[in-house]
Amino acid sequence: MNLTRSRLLVQSLSFGILTYGGRFGLNLGHALPCLSCPYVNGCGGHCFLMALQGSFWGVQASLSALAGPRGLETLRMLALFILLALQLSKLWCGWICPFGTLQDALTWVRSRLGIPEARWSWATSDRLRWVKYIFLLLLLAIPLMIANLGLHGDYGLPFCQICPAKPLMPLFTGDTAHLAIDTTNAITTAMTVLSLLLAGGFLAGMFFRERFFCIFCPMLALLGLVQRFGLVRFTKNVNACVGCGSCARSCPLEIRTVRAELVKRDVMSPECMACMTCADSCAHDGSLSFHWLKWRIFASSAVGAARRFRKGLFS
Ligand code: SF4
Ligand code: SF4
Ligand code: SF4
Repeated sequence: MNLTRSRLLVQSLSFGILTYGGRFGLNLGHALPCLSCPYVNGCGGHCFLMALQGSFWGVQASLSALAGPRGLETLRMLALFILLALQLSKLWCGWICPFGTLQDALTWVRSRLGIPEARWSWATSDRLRWVKYIFLLLLLAIPLMIANLGLHGDYGLPFCQICPAKPLMPLFTGDTAHLAIDTTNAITTAMTVLSLLLAGGFLAGMFFRERFFCIFCPMLALLGLVQRFGLVRFTKNVNACVGCGSCARSCPLEIRTVRAELVKRDVMSPECMACMTCADSCAHDGSLSFHWLKWRIFASSAVGAARRFRKGLFS
């Protein structure tokens, strides 16, 4: 299987379905484990992060309130998200997420222009990985503070207010409304200015660095929490690995644990997005493989790596 071509096909189809599917009556619900942004008019399904923040917004801290309709709705949405996340795990990120696909498109444009990727130390990468957990905590805590501590309601949906998908993804439908500053009051003005500054910063980051936003994405943090129970497995045959480091060099998120692991079979780290690039770049038959339940999705092979090498896809 030509992994690059297959992934491009799935990503293109997913992008089209999730960005425009609603115009053709498609509704995949409000609990999708990827940034399919509801601010896109006519999208085919909604990112779970919006529902998660919206549910917590109205939840009072008392146990009786949590057992009420709002709390039960939150649990229902969470159960749906977990069900979807268990089915495809990180494939949502590597193969389906429209915002991930946009990042890959920007990387493609940069490489066609011959502009080298921005690099920083592994220590910096390791530190940056914690930011997504801070975002996740804040996107839960701020709505609860609105409900219980009297924080102004204009701070509602705090992550959506700064998420770069909100101003950028509607542009694919010709909608520029989210590029405007909301001058209703000081909070909305400050939040929309912040949103635009962050969107500009992330856009530049995504151009110069592969999957830059994914490093900070709270959805990846959420998926990481449930991945160990998911049906998709990323395994390593430690006996077939020669420690060449090709997997670590090719990984867009600079994950080094795949190469370093010498004992465990399961090598899917919380940061992994199951793009399978590492397995594609590994020249040792069956050293790295992805399975859905017992069925193999993809495995490293000498033949595949040689093809990749001929096409100059090795980094
Ligand atoms: S980590 Fe990246 S691919 Fe995954 S949901 Fe976030 S933006 Fe999309
Ligand atoms: S703004 Fe971002 S977090 Fe909010 S729904 Fe859109 S993609 Fe999801
Ligand atoms: S470890 Fe492999 S599958 Fe995971 S993100 Fe890196 S290259 Fe992709």
